[in-house]
Amino acid sequence: SKLEKIDLRNLVKESLKLVTSEINLKGIKRNIILPDEEVNVRGNFNQLQQVLINIITNAIQAMGKGGKLEIRVKKKDNQAVIEISDTGPGIPEEIRKKIFEPFFTTKEKGTGLGLSVSYSIIQKHKGQIEVESEEGKGTTFRILLPIYENTG
Ligand code: ADP
Ligand code: MG
Repeated sequence: SKLEKIDLRNLVKESLKLVTSEINLKGIKRNIILPDEEVNVRGNFNQLQQVLINIITNAIQAMGKGGKLEIRVKKKDNQAVIEISDTGPGIPEEIRKKIFEPFFTTKEKGTGLGLSVSYSIIQKHKGQIEVESEEGKGTTFRILLPIYENTG
């Protein structure tokens, strides 16, 4: 697939456009925190956008009215980072181990494919996905990707 230089700030903005109506419809507040400088990675824009949409959609589905979606882009330890946090119910620990497995879902009409597909895409990009969750407080998904090197 096509590899391009992607500014994660742009990826976040473009991904949000696709879920804005759903966010507004559910009355979810949002807080988007982007740095002043570019945070570039090498990758396939459509695939990485799919990952963000999957994670944001899960976050929206986990929250009711009054929930808050927070998305932050930053650099940490020479990696590019996107953090997506929700104020939903959290993910029980015994379930947390299974959420990246294909077809694992707790939803009546879920496919259980969003996170497994996301995991594969991030692996192909030589990155990692982490999840932190506290029951009753919410969930944070963290995507780490190698920073784009001009010489690479
Ligand atoms: P689906 O959304 O079709 O269920 P996913 O692979 O996207 O499949 O997610 C798998 C499961 O992980 C969900 O069914 C849900 O139990 C859990 N999950 C994912 N994201 C969240 C979240 N933000 N808050 C609570 N549970 C979540
Ligand atoms: Mg999903």
